[in-house]
Amino acid sequence: MVAASTLQRTRVSIRGIVQGVGFRPFVCRLAREIGLSGSVRNCTAGVVVEVEGPDDAIGELIDRLRGEAPPLARIDAMELDHLPPRGDRAFSVTESTVEPGACALVAADVAMCDACRADVLDPWNHRYRYPFTTCTNCGPRYSIIRDIPYDRGTTTMAPFAMCAQCAAEYRDAADRRFHAETIACPACGPEVMLATADGTAARGHYALTETRRRLSAGELVAVRGLGGFHLACDATSDEAVQRLRARKRRGDKPFAVMVRDETIAAREALLSDLERRLLAGREHPIVIVSRAGGAISRSVAPQNDTIGLMLPYTPLHLLLFEEGIEALVMTSGNLSDEPIAISNEDALERLRGIADAFLLHDRDIHNRIDDSVVRVIDGRPRPIRRARAFAPHPIDLGAPAPPLLACGAELKSTVCLTRERSAFVSQHIGDLGTYETMACFEETVERLKKLFRITPQFVAHDLHPAYLSTRYAKESGLPAVGVQHHHAHIASCMAENGVQGPVIGVAMDGTGLGLDGRIWGGEFFAGDLARFERIAHLRYVPLAGGDAAVRQPWRCAISYWRDAAADGRPLELPVAAAQRRIVETMLDRRINVIDTSSCGRLFDAVASILGLRHEANFEAQAAIALEGVADRGAEGAYPFDIDDRGEPWTIDLRPAIRALAGERDAAMAAGKFHHTLASVIAEVCASIRRRQGIDRVCLSGGVFQNKLLTERAAARLRELRFQVVLHSIVPCNDGGISLGQAVIAAERVRRGEA
Ligand code: ZN
Ligand code: ZN
Ligand code: FE
Repeated sequence: MVAASTLQRTRVSIRGIVQGVGFRPFVCRLAREIGLSGSVRNCTAGVVVEVEGPDDAIGELIDRLRGEAPPLARIDAMELDHLPPRGDRAFSVTESTVEPGACALVAADVAMCDACRADVLDPWNHRYRYPFTTCTNCGPRYSIIRDIPYDRGTTTMAPFAMCAQCAAEYRDAADRRFHAETIACPACGPEVMLATADGTAARGHYALTETRRRLSAGELVAVRGLGGFHLACDATSDEAVQRLRARKRRGDKPFAVMVRDETIAAREALLSDLERRLLAGREHPIVIVSRAGGAISRSVAPQNDTIGLMLPYTPLHLLLFEEGIEALVMTSGNLSDEPIAISNEDALERLRGIADAFLLHDRDIHNRIDDSVVRVIDGRPRPIRRARAFAPHPIDLGAPAPPLLACGAELKSTVCLTRERSAFVSQHIGDLGTYETMACFEETVERLKKLFRITPQFVAHDLHPAYLSTRYAKESGLPAVGVQHHHAHIASCMAENGVQGPVIGVAMDGTGLGLDGRIWGGEFFAGDLARFERIAHLRYVPLAGGDAAVRQPWRCAISYWRDAAADGRPLELPVAAAQRRIVETMLDRRINVIDTSSCGRLFDAVASILGLRHEANFEAQAAIALEGVADRGAEGAYPFDIDDRGEPWTIDLRPAIRALAGERDAAMAAGKFHHTLASVIAEVCASIRRRQGIDRVCLSGGVFQNKLLTERAAARLRELRFQVVLHSIVPCNDGGISLGQAVIAAERVRRGEA
């Protein structure tokens, strides 16, 4: 005899990324298919499902919730409660509910899906050429959300009342736009409009046609996109690109390029399969790839063998590429160093004099968010800038942390807030130091606090007293925890990889204040989140000029050369004798001289000594040139010494500097120099393992954005049977510092040390 299934009612409370990802429609379809009655709704904590039916059917639903969840969803936890049956007859989506203090995860923005792309390109479709076409699987999320739970009313779509057709799709469980909060169409949704300096205005299709005409004619157009404005121009026109460079006062810094499709991408760059998949994946980041021939102007990235490419990620972008346009520069809509403009008024004001025309729209951007940048290094995508489509997804800390705010560093600023097991690292904010970026920093902190219902009890900061983020932390009135910069780098790498320690931490970096008051940046640590010991570092070199040396690698060259060249051989540099004498006098008399173990400055010095780059008009330009020119087939390394008589040990690269200067072939020398650093890393780690028995190595710090160095160092370490831990969630550069500060501060709080 078969036991009859009994009627049950069960409440399933689901936490994770379950709002704005088509989760309620998915649950609704599933429950109806299985024949269960009840309801599903968003709440402040996530999604609540109540189902009524035979217990085996409820069991099936619960299994399939996990197994068949929509691709963008992530279920972190499911809780079940048994309730008395109420006799519901159907299954429906009901009104969202608000519980004080609860917190739902917010979905990141998602690139246009294939189905929406097809709708936009189909002349028979209601949304043909409609720039704001989205569905439950794609479209803006974080950039438009004002609060949780995620409903149309809490987003900047609130002012747009659905037309009858959109409303019907919204209610139809069989439709891809069932409960899509961003649903819109030409009849009811946002609209584009073109404004020009000469007063021409156009709307809808006319605005897009006129925009394309102007871009083809070489004009610069400010385009309001998903997370902010871009400045766009025809990337195949040298003249247009140079005009943009001049008006934006941008020096040689590379521009990102959006290409029409994968065919154009393959023509412009040498793409691996992984790079192709990244370009077309759901995040659509800027991918840094190797240039091929192609038609894109060299001025996009002068003297650079790489280029940042992306594909159109909204229908609006897609529509810019009709009628023969193949590649557009899409650079942040700002003046150098300012946050990108997000409102129409702000763009018209700040970009006046740069843009010839403005493609505006009326769907407001609430959270400013730049394009993300990734580069494939050591076989996996590594974030260089973490923003659109990645933020604000939380990072699982593995254990609960007290609520705290970590303020990050100074350049490539991000902040991090913690709540229970989650760390919320903000999107890239930019370089602090202007009033505008600092205002953006403060706004980001306030918004994340509100969105995730976090009231920080502690604040973590860098040790550098002059960083604006440090000052902000100290003025917050909260108990403050100072964290050494390179310890934070290593901790960020540990945290995102779920590594507890102990580890050997190799931090190769530009600048960070050390515990001894000197500028560190070539560091070998052993330890964990609570403690670290500085086992070894690049030998201190007296550097003349501090910040000026960052912009003028020739100053580094003179400093490293004088330090290394015991025989007093002169170094040939294209620098006026008077300027050179000033630097030499500074070094002789130790005026404005700092001692540094920075690996970034070492790269600058070597690039200049090899005659590759003597001035830098953007960060790390000389180091990028050195990597770019390096002969991949070069063999052998330059000599160096590891002095382990004292503590910490010092790594003496003077023999390498002396050998470098005699080289005629800069490409070969650059290749050998990369080998040399990889050897330094491998040998020092091997020595540390002999003393401490640690065989796990975390590589972090901005220098590891260098693909050649990272891959060589990782390969050497693996040959020695080390486990190599690299970044893949937050950047190895200072964009990851806030996460590292957060986990170190949490550990100190746990131990009662803060
Ligand atoms: Zn879609
Ligand atoms: Zn509509
Ligand atoms: Fe750093």
